[in-house]
Order: sequence, then structure tokens, then C-alpha cells
Amino acid sequence: MSATDISATKTGRIFNFSAGPSTLPIEVLEQAQRDLLNYDGSGMSVMEMSHRSAPFESIINRAEADLRALLAIPDDYSVLFLQGGASLQFSMIAMNFLAEGQEAGYIVTGAWGEKALESAQLEGSAKEVHSQKEGGYKKAPSWAEIPDCRGLAYVHCTSNETIQGVEFSSDPSPLGAPIICDMSSDILSRPVHVSAYDLIYAGAQKNMGPAGLVVVIAKKSFLAGAKSGLGPMLDYKVQDKNKSLYNTPPCWSIYVTGLVFQHLLSTGGISGAEARNRAKAKVIYDAIDQSDGFFKGHAEVGSRSLMNITFTLPSDELTSQFIKACDQTQLDGLKGHRSVGGCRASVYNAFPREGCDRLAELMADFRKSH
Ligand SMILES: *Cc1c(COP(=O)(O)O)cnc(C)c1O
Repeated sequence: MSATDISATKTGRIFNFSAGPSTLPIEVLEQAQRDLLNYDGSGMSVMEMSHRSAPFESIINRAEADLRALLAIPDDYSVLFLQGGASLQFSMIAMNFLAEGQEAGYIVTGAWGEKALESAQLEGSAKEVHSQKEGGYKKAPSWAEIPDCRGLAYVHCTSNETIQGVEFSSDPSPLGAPIICDMSSDILSRPVHVSAYDLIYAGAQKNMGPAGLVVVIAKKSFLAGAKSGLGPMLDYKVQDKNKSLYNTPPCWSIYVTGLVFQHLLSTGGISGAEARNRAKAKVIYDAIDQSDGFFKGHAEVGSRSLMNITFTLPSDELTSQFIKACDQTQLDGLKGHRSVGGCRASVYNAFPREGCDRLAELMADFRKSH
């Protein structure tokens, strides 16, 4: 029995394919449990502690340092721990970086990119510079297909579209305008060059930690050009100047996210995670490709996500039978998003390989018996 199987039997935990909030490393949950009543001899829980106390200051500083180490974040980038999820970033980005008389460009490869664009349009002038909507959001374009974006305030992309399961396979090449990327569902899953972006943001609850926290990594010179005069919570410059402590931050989420960073560092860093993620996704994509068309992948092969694997069955009836069979074998959360239908297996960093093997076996068995 592997370590995961042992802990699964001990705790009654099941394989959780949820798209988010999603599974966390068992070691992190156990550490949080050990620290719950008395964090590091402080005599209190992180949930009960002042965000201006020495123990919390060291928690947030270490989380930042570990994230910088994991992603090799250059010194001329700030790291912010904010609230409001990725969805508030949709608005904040336009509020801060889209001035009167300017226009922003959006590369839309799925549902989240659409939402980001709609939010920006409430704040100013924003347009699609590339959309995969007509093709049904099945692929990410090559960067060479994106038109020249010179003159735009910024261009926004979504590295992994969580609902459609479509992922860019490389960092953008220069597009002529500052590049902003929503990495909510694939941050820390594979190496990226932070310097290819002017601002990266990611909600914590897919690959990093509990909901309630959004991480922003931004080039200082880009932040310096943000508008002034916004409400302080919405102003990146205020948040940066106050090192994410303008008000009470989501302390518990930052603490658990910090534990996830430590866990990643001790298990081979991002390249270790990438190797595990490639192997995990391959097991399930192979099960799709070897099913003689019974299971069909939603995304085109070159744009397949390593994090969210979307596929359909020949009918809605078979889909619901399959999901029932998954539930019966403790494979949970496989129902696809209502807009795409079918199934979605979300296999973020912390999702164990055993769960992918179990799903692939069930797929093969189900096909034979149906
Ligand atoms: C989940 C998700 C969001 C929304 O995140 P919230 O934190 O719920 O606002 C945005 N973008 C992507 C790519 C996501 O996966």
C-alpha cells in the first residue's frame, strides 16, 4: 500500500477531483491540525493571532520567500496576498491599468477569459484581440497568432481555462503591450518565466491553499504606472506599500498556503510537480485515447490541460451512469461544468497518482460493460 492509500483508509478520505476548492496535500492538513490549537509555542491558533504579531509576520514573510524560490521570481517583482478571489482581480486590473482614452486587449480561450473581459468592460474600453469562442473553446492559439497589441494598455490571457480544460503550453512571446495572466488553475504546476509577464494572479483554492486568498505577482515598474485615487483596498500601490497588510489579510489561508509552498519545496519544487502532473494527466488522456472513441476529449490534443481533463461519453444517460459508478468507488467530483457537460477530472498538484490510476481503470471497465 502506498502512503496515500494508508492515510486514505485511516481518515476515510476519498479521491477528490473537484475543480476548486480542491484537494490539499495530506501532510499539509496534518501539519495544520497539529498547529491548530497552539501555533509554534505561541499559545494560540493562527486563526486567533494578530496579523501584526511576530509569528504572523514570519508566516507571511516565509510564504513570500518560498513562493519567490519556487517560481524564481525576480527582485523587481512584488508579491501580494490579497482577497476577493481571482474574480476581484478581473475588476481591479481594469480599475488600475485602464485609464480614460486607453483600450485593453483580451485573449479569450474559455469561460474565465470571457468573464475577465466582461468585468473590464464595466470599467473602461476593452476588446477581444483573439477568441476561440467560435471553435467551442477547444484550443489555445500559438502566440504567433495573436495580432500585434502595440498601443493597448495591456493584454490579458488565461494560462489554463479550468472549465474547458484548455491550457497554453508555453509562456507568451512579447505581444507589444504589458501582459497580464490569470494563472488561477495552473500556477505552480509547471515552470514559467515570471519575466514574460507584467502581472500574474491566481486564486489560491486550485493549486495553492484554502479559498479567500489571491496571489498577485507584479513587476514593480508596471505597478508604478497604475492609476491613483482608487479606494485603498482596490489600489495595488497601496497594497504593495503596506506589504499586503493594509487591512487584516486572510491570515489562515496565507498560513496554509505557506505550508503548501514548503511541501512543494520539499518534494522536488516545480519541476518535481510538473513531472508528477505530466504522468498523472497521461494516465487519463491515455484512457480517453485508447477507448475507440467511447470517451472523447474536449480539448484539441496540443492544448490539453494538465490540470483539468474534460471529456464526454456517447450520451447523457451513459454520462450519469458513469458518474454514479465513480461515486460508488470513491472517485468524487467528476461531473463536468454545466456549460460543457460530460466529465471533468481536476488533477491539481496535490491530487494523488493513485486516483488517476483508479479512474483510468474504471473508464476501461465501464466501456467494456457498456
Ligand atoms: C476558479 C477560477 C477563477 C475564479 O476564481 P475565484 O477565486 O472564485 O474568483 C478565475 N479564473 C480561473 C482560471 C479560475 O480557474
